[in-house]
Amino acid sequence: MTRWLAEYAWLPDHAEPTPDVLIETDGGRITGVTPLTAGSRPPAGVEVLGDAVRLPGLTLPGLANAHSHAFHRALRGRTHAGRGDFWSWRDQMYAVAARLDPDSYLALARAVYAEMALAGITCVGEFHYLHHNPDGTPYDDPNAMGAALVEAAAHAGVRLTLLDTAYLTSTVDGEPLAGPQRRFGDGNALRWAERADAIPSDNAHARLGAAIHSVRAVPAEQLATVAGWADRRGVPLHVHLSEQPAENDACRAVHGRTPTGLLADHGVLGPHTTAVHATHPTSGDLTLLGDHRTGVCLCPTTERDLADGIGPARRMADVGIPLSLGSDSHAVLDLFEEARAVELDERLRTRRRGHFTADDLLTAATVTGHAALGWGDAGRLSVGDRADLVTVRLDSVRTAGVPPVGVFFAATAADVHHVVVDGRVVVRDGRHVDVDVPTELRDAIAAVTT
Ligand SMILES: [Zn+2]
Repeated sequence: MTRWLAEYAWLPDHAEPTPDVLIETDGGRITGVTPLTAGSRPPAGVEVLGDAVRLPGLTLPGLANAHSHAFHRALRGRTHAGRGDFWSWRDQMYAVAARLDPDSYLALARAVYAEMALAGITCVGEFHYLHHNPDGTPYDDPNAMGAALVEAAAHAGVRLTLLDTAYLTSTVDGEPLAGPQRRFGDGNALRWAERADAIPSDNAHARLGAAIHSVRAVPAEQLATVAGWADRRGVPLHVHLSEQPAENDACRAVHGRTPTGLLADHGVLGPHTTAVHATHPTSGDLTLLGDHRTGVCLCPTTERDLADGIGPARRMADVGIPLSLGSDSHAVLDLFEEARAVELDERLRTRRRGHFTADDLLTAATVTGHAALGWGDAGRLSVGDRADLVTVRLDSVRTAGVPPVGVFFAATAADVHHVVVDGRVVVRDGRHVDVDVPTELRDAIAAVTT
């Protein structure tokens, strides 16, 4: 059993952090949470605090990064100057994708996931479609690339949900995959399911989920096959949705429906489904998503970087859509920035302040994200939950003098200085315990870009 004494801890259903909280963990679970309120006697058994590990600063539950494409990290700083849009960025992304193999992807993803651990991310949802050789033929192990990601997460000390992605066509009207997209495809949804069924599911730190890349990439008549597979397995199903107006236009032209309407028609929406982005929904789409209790994963820094637009986060929350957060392209890898952007982007749109509380942002960054990835027992500092502790400094140049409740509006990933995942220390004093993150990032990125 380990005892941790948090200077402040943000407990469930609290509008703001609580000072002096004793957190006990055992076997990777939280076994005790005891606020030592000033002037009161500690409960029996916790009088002696000498052996407790002190956590100066604010301790949060583990942050969940609900949408990642690990290899996009190699593009950071390389695509940001000059003109262009989502589609021109995508061409640059394909050039990196074409150079990866299971060994180089393991090295890159290990470094990226370790960067996530440094940022306080204890669980990541990897939206994985880089399945095959560049010419589209399977590796000897058809799941070698997914296995590399699972191994990378183990090295980095974070949990992973491998959202194995069906990516079958290149356009809404069913153009076949060509060029760098060929390695994404399994031919049809049944063959996708066959391959996904062969992914081992015996890792303690990794779980399997499914993804539909988008309505561009899975023909309408095959959507139900992927959704049915996820439903039978009881695993999360994610889908890129309405990231671009062009996708909406193409879907209407071919199917006479919005992408959300098409997904609803084919049984894709539901409480285990998360729509990623949903930047350009209609009012009817929002109603459909809310009625089906389908989640939305917002990726504000990527949407900002790619000039995609601002998703209507407040309207989503108002119709009952659970909101989670993802760093997606990793142009920025900082869930504090993603979280505050949900509020700040809404301010830019409406020219009013105060759409989401700090607790709303914490919930999106922690418990909702974990739930969207199929880890319903993580993301809260409560007894029985996974022992994930993320401690943020309150004495850095950014956070000094900031009240703990203001951390989501002041801190950055660089202020995370202690991270525990499933009871194991992964980051100590701002350093990853196993991975030299900057060196490994530099080398892994050089290997696929030069
Ligand atoms: Zn994405």
